[in-house]
Amino acid sequence: MKKYKCSVCGYIYDPEKGDPVNGVPPGTPFENLPRSWACPRCGALKPMFHSIGEHIFTHNILRGFYQSEDFVYYVIAVVLFVAGVSIIGVAVMHFLRGFSIINILNAVNDVLLVIIVMEILSTVLMYLTERRISLTPFLIIGLISSIRRILMVSALMSANESMTELQFHHSILDLLVSAGIVLVLIFSYYLLSRVTATSERCIGCPGYEKREEDRPEL
Ligand code: FE
Repeated sequence: MKKYKCSVCGYIYDPEKGDPVNGVPPGTPFENLPRSWACPRCGALKPMFHSIGEHIFTHNILRGFYQSEDFVYYVIAVVLFVAGVSIIGVAVMHFLRGFSIINILNAVNDVLLVIIVMEILSTVLMYLTERRISLTPFLIIGLISSIRRILMVSALMSANESMTELQFHHSILDLLVSAGIVLVLIFSYYLLSRVTATSERCIGCPGYEKREEDRPEL
């Protein structure tokens, strides 16, 4: 049986030994591994493997592609970090200007923006380290954005005393829509956390069965 080598980290899949990390028993040929099988060392998928001795030109191109993709993500992570630190600076400036309602609202607004940036940053870092994307940060980002919108509209309403009746109705509608979005997102978050918790512990639940199907036939 042919051995296969990971183009990313150099790990060698030896069919004689199998892959104890992923529960693949000895004697399983590489071709029989499920499509979802990934390198136990770096998480690269099956197309990133080549049989030892095979021409590796294509794999080197693929490897270069993955590395340049990672580079872009690292740049994005640095930009997000710098943006987060800058917004914290602006928030401190807002806070130091005085204790007016508008300044405090601006500072709270900035802090919420920092949380959004940090959520995106954690998503990028999760992808770089674990090669997976979670839905949770996007729900949190939506939630914070809606709360920011509510704060902003409330601040405008309290600051603008000469508001016409039409503007007032528009603002109220805006607040109601944002509040509705907040409720929907909280409910979605609750459902998502329940589904995740259930599929992780319950034999026979959809998530569990899916993982079982992915296992190689013994
Ligand atoms: Fe690898």
